[in-house]
Amino acid sequence: MIDTNMLIGSNMVAGQEQGEPVINPKTEDTIVDLAEASAAQVDMAVNAAALAFQSWSRTTPGERSALLLKLADAIDADAESFATLEALNCGKPRIRVLQDEMPAISDCFRFFAGAVRNMHGAVAGEYLAGHTSMIRRDPIGVVGSIAPWNYPLMMAAWKLAPALAGGNTIVLKPSEQTPLTTLKLAKTIADIFPAGVVNIVVGRGATTGNALISHPKVAMVSLTGSIGTGQKVLQAAAPVIRRTHLELGGKAPVIVFDDADIASVVEGIRTFGFYNAGQDCTAACRIYAGAKVFDNFVADLSSAFGTIKFNLPDDDENEIGPLISAAQKSRVQEFVARAANQGSARITTGGKAPGGKGFFFEPTVVAGAGQDDEIVRKEMFGPVVSVTRFTDVDQAVTWANDSDYGLASSVWTRDIAKGMSTAARLQYGCTWVNTHFMLVSEMPHGGLKWSGYGKDLSMYALEDYTVVRHVMVKL
Ligand code: NAD
Repeated sequence: MIDTNMLIGSNMVAGQEQGEPVINPKTEDTIVDLAEASAAQVDMAVNAAALAFQSWSRTTPGERSALLLKLADAIDADAESFATLEALNCGKPRIRVLQDEMPAISDCFRFFAGAVRNMHGAVAGEYLAGHTSMIRRDPIGVVGSIAPWNYPLMMAAWKLAPALAGGNTIVLKPSEQTPLTTLKLAKTIADIFPAGVVNIVVGRGATTGNALISHPKVAMVSLTGSIGTGQKVLQAAAPVIRRTHLELGGKAPVIVFDDADIASVVEGIRTFGFYNAGQDCTAACRIYAGAKVFDNFVADLSSAFGTIKFNLPDDDENEIGPLISAAQKSRVQEFVARAANQGSARITTGGKAPGGKGFFFEPTVVAGAGQDDEIVRKEMFGPVVSVTRFTDVDQAVTWANDSDYGLASSVWTRDIAKGMSTAARLQYGCTWVNTHFMLVSEMPHGGLKWSGYGKDLSMYALEDYTVVRHVMVKL
């Protein structure tokens, strides 16, 4: 039984607008037709959140923490069915959702449950004689949160946990392509949180999403999505100087020095370049390999990628799933076709969509791509990596930084000093050394440049979802 109702105030209600099909990317069948929230329903959700803010914002950190922990326990208790539903809606291997995503999701709620009870600040004192100053960190108000389709439930957790811990109330809109686990979560939330603290509405970006980001009572908009949508959020925020928190795309550079342990790089990129079929804003997709190792590295990488398992009848054997939609599959196909006809690039493995049902695409390596090639410059969001040859560290760092994006990067070398000094020069929100992609709740995730600003996870997210205030008392 699939939950299709939204959460507005304390009511589980169906959308009032026409139905949008939610598609299973493995079979291309419609799972369910889901009615969109109308603008009036978005308005009701924002009003419910505004009303709930009056009391929720005055709860103690301990009270909020207790409910977040309860939610984490409820998610853990129902992890199997959340994973089944996420796998159905996204096409991901169910085992990957269950083993990788579900523990990270409940851990996110647990981390912020603890973090909010441990916030520290500046020292209160008499900075002007006869006056005591103190710093407060207060909630912002109603947060409008908009999530993407690549990790639907995890992105919902990243948005809900710090905002709720900080004392805000929320209206969350999942992607219209992958709303099902967030709607299941809505039911769980309704049993735990007071009415109106969390509201969940579904619908497309241009309609429901636009109503949310333009609503005058929304004090902050948090988006994980594309650059184009980020620009729309900023345009809607400008007239009312609304706070924004933007996690946009990425095109992660991976610098492989000649002295790297090539077997472990190959193993790492086999996992981190293709996880979630490459539909990941930190995917290790833009590789720069040293001139001495380039040929062997490309050969090893290509044969390793040829062994990635997908589209097998026993889902537990699959390592990756299909792309999310027919549109995404065409986009990847077109990118790869253009890359194959550009300059010196050549496809060394993959490059095609297998026949049959499902939006699958073969894991693909494009070797010899140039720095100005589209495949090196533009985010694709598919199971495709490019490999470009570099001659020295300055060239590698210059090329790695020569990008509109600034989310994630990695450096691979046996020389830890070289790894550290290269990491220091990279203009990315995160640099991994001798690994890639690893996230923990305690450390921040967020970008520079067109990848956006604001941090998810960590104490920094709690800071983003609260505001610093000065209170001064004349003695
Ligand atoms: P998208 O921007 O098309 O959609 C994201 C969300 O925004 C969806 O819920 C969508 O309905 C909504 N939206 C679209 N137009 C809107 C509008 N006019 N007003 C309000 N809401 C609107 O992006 P996507 O295709 O779902 O996700 C892929 C993108 O997200 C990629 O670019 C990827 O890099 C990025 N992403 C970034 C991170 C990160 O942490 N930086 C994580 C995951 C995905």
